[in-house]
Amino acid sequence: MSIDPDDQYQHSKDPSMPNILFAAPQARWQEYEAPLKSALMATGLAYELATDMPAETVDYIIYAPNSDIQDFTPYTRLKAVLNLWAGVEQVVENTTLTVPLTRMVDTEGLTQGMVEWVTGHVLRHHLGMDAHIVNPDHKWDAVAPPLAPERRVCILGLGVLGTACARALIALGFDVSGWARSEKHIQGMTCHHGPDGLDAALNDAEIVVLLLPSTAETENCLNARTLDLLADGACVINPGRGPLIEDQALLDALDRGQIHHATLDVFRVEPLPRDHPFWSHPKVTVTPHIASETRPVTAAREIAQNIQRYERGDPLQHLVDRTAGY
Ligand code: NAP
Repeated sequence: MSIDPDDQYQHSKDPSMPNILFAAPQARWQEYEAPLKSALMATGLAYELATDMPAETVDYIIYAPNSDIQDFTPYTRLKAVLNLWAGVEQVVENTTLTVPLTRMVDTEGLTQGMVEWVTGHVLRHHLGMDAHIVNPDHKWDAVAPPLAPERRVCILGLGVLGTACARALIALGFDVSGWARSEKHIQGMTCHHGPDGLDAALNDAEIVVLLLPSTAETENCLNARTLDLLADGACVINPGRGPLIEDQALLDALDRGQIHHATLDVFRVEPLPRDHPFWSHPKVTVTPHIASETRPVTAAREIAQNIQRYERGDPLQHLVDRTAGY
């Protein structure tokens, strides 16, 4: 009896049963296997899910940009690629990818985590917590911090994450402004948009939070000129992407006191090289790209529901605009 070589893979030959390839480092499979199976099962969809199957049989790829797959050409039957991460800069320009690409929107996990991280770091700077947490000279400077309505916070990027963070800060009473590519109306804040709106958004802000994607247009949007627009002694919080900030301009602004502190979660090179000046700068807090991450249970639900939608003929949600780059 001859053995069909494809039988070693658990892929389906039934065209109505999608074959879903999980393409991410092995550690991710351990986290995602059970949640994905359970979320796919909950949709009622018949499916096959594996980390290995012949390329020409794959319908969907659940994808981490640091997976082994960089050439999508062999995936001739592919319907869509579902990115596990919110940022897509490592895959968006891949010319071998010609099917729709979605990015991760995981409201209960990723968004919630980002709201907590941003709120925490805004409050740290707003309240001046550092002065009391590290106080070796036991100084008794009994000056109460201002209240939130007296603090101007600017959020660059008013997408899923920026809007959620803005709403949390507005709820705390902060004076919030923001900037996006397109016009926005968010209750309780001033929204600016387009290339001409950046200066107005940054003008006199005391805390700026970057939640933009990394694209050719957003690169170095915080540079020597735009840092100068902020209030003297402002704080910069970057959980967006490293290339949004011109590193040397930030270091210069920190050294001359124009910027009081920078809390940076993302960098041009990650892990941040050991000899990078950010590590040793007394006015920089480095966090190792942990502002927020996709949580397997909630993210698996989003992915399963998106595949289910597409299988029944509805449009995919959270499609990446390949021209805009995010
Ligand atoms: P999103 O929903 O796509 O929002 C992106 C926002 O940036 C949108 O408001 C968009 O404007 C705006 N934008 C894009 N290009 C612009 C430009 N040229 N000028 C002005 N505004 C521009 O993305 P998201 O889900 O909120 O995620 C934002 C970023 O956070 C991701 O791309 C990723 O880099 C980062 N992130 C970091 C972590 C971490 O752990 N550090 C975790 C998750 C995500 P429009 O609304 O007009 O399109």
